[in-house]
Amino acid sequence: MKPLRDIDPEIWECIQREIERQEYQLEMIASENLADLAVMEAEGSPLMNKYAEGYPSARYYGGCDFIDEVERLAIERVKLLFGAEYANVQPHSGTQANMAVYFAILNLGDTILSMDLTHGGHLSHGATVNFSGKFYQVFYYGVSKETETIDYEEVRKLALTYKPKLIVAGASAYPRTIDFEAFSEIAKEVKAYLMADIAHIAGLIAAGIHPSPIPYADFVTSTTHKTLRGPRGGFILCKERYGELIDKVVFPGIQGGPHMNIIAAKAVCFKEALQPEFKEYQQQIVKNAKTIARILKENKFRVITGGTDNHLILIDVSSQGLTGAQAEKLLESAGITVNKNSIPFDPLPPKITSGIRIGTPAITTRGLKEKEVEEVAIWICEILKNPEKENLRKEIKEKVRRLCERFPFYRR
Ligand SMILES: *Cc1c(COP(=O)(O)O)cnc(C)c1O
Repeated sequence: MKPLRDIDPEIWECIQREIERQEYQLEMIASENLADLAVMEAEGSPLMNKYAEGYPSARYYGGCDFIDEVERLAIERVKLLFGAEYANVQPHSGTQANMAVYFAILNLGDTILSMDLTHGGHLSHGATVNFSGKFYQVFYYGVSKETETIDYEEVRKLALTYKPKLIVAGASAYPRTIDFEAFSEIAKEVKAYLMADIAHIAGLIAAGIHPSPIPYADFVTSTTHKTLRGPRGGFILCKERYGELIDKVVFPGIQGGPHMNIIAAKAVCFKEALQPEFKEYQQQIVKNAKTIARILKENKFRVITGGTDNHLILIDVSSQGLTGAQAEKLLESAGITVNKNSIPFDPLPPKITSGIRIGTPAITTRGLKEKEVEEVAIWICEILKNPEKENLRKEIKEKVRRLCERFPFYRR
């Protein structure tokens, strides 16, 4: 039982450098967060050694007594957290949670109506480069050109035209509240299933800050590592009547043995999300995002939809004469990590883009509040307005480091 440092100094060194990076940069990628020690301890535990194909009390391996307890706790907690009838906590990722729902209810070639990737949708909602786009016939709804928000009347028209078997509601780069009730009315009208993919906003929903899809959707899929702040992974919530079907598709349908260490870490994450502090945390995420949106607007940046209701802000950097790719690089060189992102009706390709996506879950985990976030937003504006000033980026990088030292994460 020698430590990693002795067994594999190369990997140990990479980990140290990544810890440094996470500690001294501002992580503002909207899909990321910083999970705490309890989550990491469960994930890095000897539970990883256990094979447990099957489900609690119905395994294909012996020695599963304690593992069963772990998975039962994860299931009970996530059901309680979201008020769901049934839960499967085994999907290895959000994409696999979506795959399980598709396989459960669709045949090859069936029709899906989902949000356009370039308007904020996700790869696993039917992109041609993803299995979902290869296996199914996918039609897209987008946002309206004027409001840059989802036009539900347009979604309804598309649903009436294409008669999808499944409507997918959910997005990766949509800064506004999603009206799951409106989606469910449309789905009912055309007799489609409704799947809500809450990967990004699961934490907000758990805290009651974003309306829940549970009363409206047949299936709810999610990740655990974004606003929910758990390990990398996925889960599925559904009505009791679909439970058996979903379980069969996840295992043995599309996965083998569940990752029991990850399921334990999910259980820890769900427990934390049930605490009153989690609600405060989620509220602060939104306050911080609104603060950034306000400062960007005051500095004449075009904020998509004019603001945000959630944890992310999408901005158009083209009026600064920049592409999203350039903006991402400029900010990174000042210690602020964001990602380039297509904006609705983006004339530039996805590898370049006209926009960047900025998120507040990770910096809020560190403890930043409006006062600090305001300062960070001003730095972002300064950097993007003065791309030729390399010294400015150096100065800001120093300020970022000092701010990170005041709000340590791993070095607490
Ligand atoms: C992140 C995300 C996923 C998938 O997550 P992975 O775990 O990376 O597969 C699915 N749907 C949406 C909307 C997402 O934002």
